[in-house]
Amino acid sequence: MCLFCKIVNKEIPANVVLENENFLAFHDINPKAPVHILAIPKLHVDSFNEVTGETMAGMTEFIQGLVKEIKIDASGYRVICNVGEDGGQEVKHLHCHILGGAKLKWEHF
Ligand code: C5P
Repeated sequence: MCLFCKIVNKEIPANVVLENENFLAFHDINPKAPVHILAIPKLHVDSFNEVTGETMAGMTEFIQGLVKEIKIDASGYRVICNVGEDGGQEVKHLHCHILGGAKLKWEHF
């Protein structure tokens, strides 16, 4: 079972911010910004390459609710899915990084 499936199953602890039937959001253990939260579907999907439009629609609504709840919707934030080797994806369970709480820089290579 993958790392994030273990978090979903509460076999590995995580600092959960928001949860519903299908999605889970928790603080990244190695934050790259003052706010750094990961949102994942509870059902395992390897990456953005495989995810269905239906799951991404649910994920979008979940993240919209999350950013309102933590009050960064007005100030702004960034949503990133790293995909595959060049994208820097380390955990092979689809996750969206939600970064905010500061004016973010834009540097990629
Ligand atoms: O997009 P990528 O796969 O590189 O991101 C994985 C993220 O999962 C990293 O930012 C890492 O800090 C985070 N992580 C976590 N909790 C774990 C293991 C990894 O928040 N137990």
